[in-house]
Amino acid sequence: MNFLKRLMPYLKPQGGTLALAYACMVVLGITTAFYAFLAGPALKFVFAGNITDVLRSSTGELRSVWTWLPNDWVGSIENLDRTWALLTMPVLIVITAIIKGFAQTGQFSMLGRVSQCVLRRMRADTFDALLRQSPSFYSKRAHGDLLSRLTHDANLVEQAVFYGCAPLLREPLVVVFLLIFCFLTDSTLALVTFVTVPLAVLPLARFARWLKRVSRRGQDYQGAINTTSYEALAGVQVVQAFGTEANERDKLDRAADRYYRQMLKSYFIRAVRTPTMEIMGALALAGLLGLLGYWVQTKNADPAHFISFFVAVVMMYDPLKKLGNVTDYLANGAAASDRIFEVIDHKPDIIDQPNAIALPPFTDRVEFKNVTFAYNSTPVLEGIDLELRTGNVVALVGSSGAGKTTVANLLPRFYDVTQGSLTIDGHDIREVTLASLRKQISVVSQDTFLFNTSVAENIAYGQPDATAERVREVARAAYAEEFIRALPKGYDTEIGERGVMLSGGQRQRLAIARALLRDTPLLILDEAMSALDIESERFVQRAIDALMVGRTSLVIAHRLTTIRRANTIAVLQGGRIVERGRHDELLALNGEYARLYAMQFQQDEKPETLPVPE
Ligand code: ADP
Repeated sequence: MNFLKRLMPYLKPQGGTLALAYACMVVLGITTAFYAFLAGPALKFVFAGNITDVLRSSTGELRSVWTWLPNDWVGSIENLDRTWALLTMPVLIVITAIIKGFAQTGQFSMLGRVSQCVLRRMRADTFDALLRQSPSFYSKRAHGDLLSRLTHDANLVEQAVFYGCAPLLREPLVVVFLLIFCFLTDSTLALVTFVTVPLAVLPLARFARWLKRVSRRGQDYQGAINTTSYEALAGVQVVQAFGTEANERDKLDRAADRYYRQMLKSYFIRAVRTPTMEIMGALALAGLLGLLGYWVQTKNADPAHFISFFVAVVMMYDPLKKLGNVTDYLANGAAASDRIFEVIDHKPDIIDQPNAIALPPFTDRVEFKNVTFAYNSTPVLEGIDLELRTGNVVALVGSSGAGKTTVANLLPRFYDVTQGSLTIDGHDIREVTLASLRKQISVVSQDTFLFNTSVAENIAYGQPDATAERVREVARAAYAEEFIRALPKGYDTEIGERGVMLSGGQRQRLAIARALLRDTPLLILDEAMSALDIESERFVQRAIDALMVGRTSLVIAHRLTTIRRANTIAVLQGGRIVERGRHDELLALNGEYARLYAMQFQQDEKPETLPVPE
């Protein structure tokens, strides 16, 4: 089965524990079969009333069935006195139960360990795979669905290992030991049983395939439920502001309805399977019962044999039924693992080349050479030539959708150029390691992502070695110290998911402090377009000024101060650079820049000049 093959790498490290669990299962199989062996004599013990007869018959049984037992053992059992005989049967039952109990505890806890280890490693691998994926992967998939794979699907695989794979190993073992017992009792009868049992199991395979198909669809719909609820909760304020609670509820209902229908199918399959299995089982038993009756009569056999044999066959039904239930877990697990391995197997499109070198520290220039770029097949950038020299500021301006963000995203290799090349000090960025490239670039974007930890931890994100003193220093330089001190616990204040407890301007200043701490030579800055209040704007601008000092910056510019200071302004229109130069030169051209200036930047004219902080 493909599912088990895929699980092998996860099961292998658990080989020792699995072997122990398996040893427990063997003991479990033997003790279960031993119960069947005890059944006949035990019943006779109850009904015959004459203990000596019972003992005789059971030791007679011992002689014929367990021929490998040393003769003197059988003899000594035969010679037991009446008191011992009275004790033998109950004691044997209790001892068997105790051994069986230990075996059960052992296999249960060991399998629990194995399945939990599989879950932990598989979840870690899925998470690793997710962290490696580039933005293009995420643009095609919903976060809610991916989260569902990481949690719900991983749990289904864990359950499949525990409730699925374990019985798959254990129950056949029980059946095998019961069959061995049957063979030792009467080989012809056992042969008949041996042929009938697989007949009863045959329909199981069909049900399993059917269930897997339904489960896969069910889990996809479960992913859709997660996506819908995740989005609605993440944007709950928008939902409330627009009064669209009912729409969101409808969306969830639709997703839940599709899931509900798949689940009904799944329950129906299981509902049909149980009676089918029982009818098959009843047919097999009915046949056997007839045969056994015939056998007892014609061979004048001991009814104790008959009872033991019959009990063995009846006991076989239970493991077979459990094997039937296994298909549920395996079908769910197989479908869930398909969804998980889709992520794990997805080769990220941005990876290190096998011979990638570490990018040496930036010294000279970044060059975009005739760069063309397309998302999927839609061309977005064409013939971009751009040079960014050390210590310079290049401002990208253009109307919305012109391609500014796309240009900026190429530098840290969030996407690879479709044609042309992007070099840093002459090294094509596709030929250097991602880690060494990204270590030299800080990105400060409009929508700063902050984690639900303390202010200090957010500033020191990715730099756990930073001292508290250094964190305070960068916070001061980013004009953040004042508001941080005013927070209830200062630097130790938890700022809530995505930093909800802070204002937009405060969040940006934390992001700038974070970039200051990273202290990279290259800076990509996406200036906020969203209007901050004048006070905030002033502080953010000062912080940005502090950040840009001594760095080489590529700025998606929305502020006049930035474009005024830029060494080069590149004006983008429809994915091409249509004008480039300094502010005054471009204004004089009276082209696209002059138009943008009139629309976007003029209102910033005569800004307050702010000192660059030390
Ligand atoms: P700007 O930053 O100048 O507003 P962008 O670089 O964000 O422009 O977008 C340029 C073009 O690329 C737009 O037409 C936009 O719709 C498209 N685009 C941006 N991101 C993606 C994406 N992930 N997939 C497909 N198209 C995209």
